[in-house]
Amino acid sequence: MGQWQTKEQLTDLLCSLVEYPSITGSNAEIAVIEYLYYILEDRNYYQDHPEHLNLHPLDDGRQLLTALVKQGEAKDTIVLIAHADVVGVEDYGSWQNLAFYPKELTQELHKNPGVLPKDAAKDLLTGDWLFGRGIMDMKAGLTLHLSLLEKAMEGEFDGNLLLVAVPDEEVNSEGMLAALPALAEIKDKENLSYKTAINGEPMFSKYPGDPANYLYTGSIGKTLPGFFCYGKETHAGEPFAGLNANLMVSYIAQEMELNETFIEQVDGERTPPPISLMQRDLKHHYSVQTPQSAVAMYNVLYMKQTIEQLNEKLLLAAQRARAKIINHYHHQASFYLEGTQTSNFSPEIRILTYEQLYKEAVDRYGTREVERRQNRLITQRDEGDRDFSTSLVQNLASLCKDISPMIVLFYSPPFY
Ligand SMILES: [Zn+2]
Repeated sequence: MGQWQTKEQLTDLLCSLVEYPSITGSNAEIAVIEYLYYILEDRNYYQDHPEHLNLHPLDDGRQLLTALVKQGEAKDTIVLIAHADVVGVEDYGSWQNLAFYPKELTQELHKNPGVLPKDAAKDLLTGDWLFGRGIMDMKAGLTLHLSLLEKAMEGEFDGNLLLVAVPDEEVNSEGMLAALPALAEIKDKENLSYKTAINGEPMFSKYPGDPANYLYTGSIGKTLPGFFCYGKETHAGEPFAGLNANLMVSYIAQEMELNETFIEQVDGERTPPPISLMQRDLKHHYSVQTPQSAVAMYNVLYMKQTIEQLNEKLLLAAQRARAKIINHYHHQASFYLEGTQTSNFSPEIRILTYEQLYKEAVDRYGTREVERRQNRLITQRDEGDRDFSTSLVQNLASLCKDISPMIVLFYSPPFY
């Protein structure tokens, strides 16, 4: 008799995984991987084959797990991929303390289904759904992988199964990146042939209310292009003497957000259009001076497009934004200036790629000085990848203040 096969067994296993509040970067993110190791090492198969169950450390102290079930000399192997981290629970509001207790949370919600969006309330009332952080994304998928692994342990498949459970999927994908060399090593050592990989991630509705169920095949690329807007600061009492970086980034948003030219269709599958994941001005403290710089970053997914093609679309978006920003300035100035008054500031905006900005900086200060400044930023670094990328651009831009206002296109990790 299996331990991870019936609905009750799978529900209990799922809840035991969800009870680890494994938010990316937390201690529980490490603990949940240890828990997986613990529940697998007890199984007869791993008692007999302890070498097939392994924890692999990441550089930062986190770890990923691989669990192979091998059938004799079989080579053909299916890789089961899962991540064990989850996003935060701020969006649970007053239910935060129940977010990791699905049965209790679902019971509480039954007392008050009105707090849920209509569709979710309908699901709740069917009694077929469990609510809690990380159930859908993706501990339910991990639970199903474990039940497949159990079947393999009992000899129900001809080939091999290899489960890979990683941390950090929700932030930088350090877990999956660290899994690649581990997968190559296991393949060589065990003489495996990887035939396919099954990812247990949830499916997503294409639009709110979409009734379809999807199965995704193939893979998709992801980039995170950023637009660094460097304006010209001015005092709030002289609003037409400069160009507000916040105005600039707002037009970038209108040109980029959900823009249809980025949608790509290959074999009947379409990439979702870009959406901004960060947008902010870079002023640290309130003052009556306008923010000099602002940044926005966009999730851009692609299949067959090249980076050159993406760059072209991104630069076109920046060009359209530029025309609108300048038009906005002049249009608004026309209401404010009277009679023969003319402003001797007229915004012009340069559009550059990171490479072009780097070259401009080198032209002004020389390669050695630019490298010295960047190395200094690297040694003093205390920010995440996104903010650090922005700092590199900001630092270069400050060396080329004479060509501001400008919009700089750059890329931040992650990149797949
Ligand atoms: Zn996920």
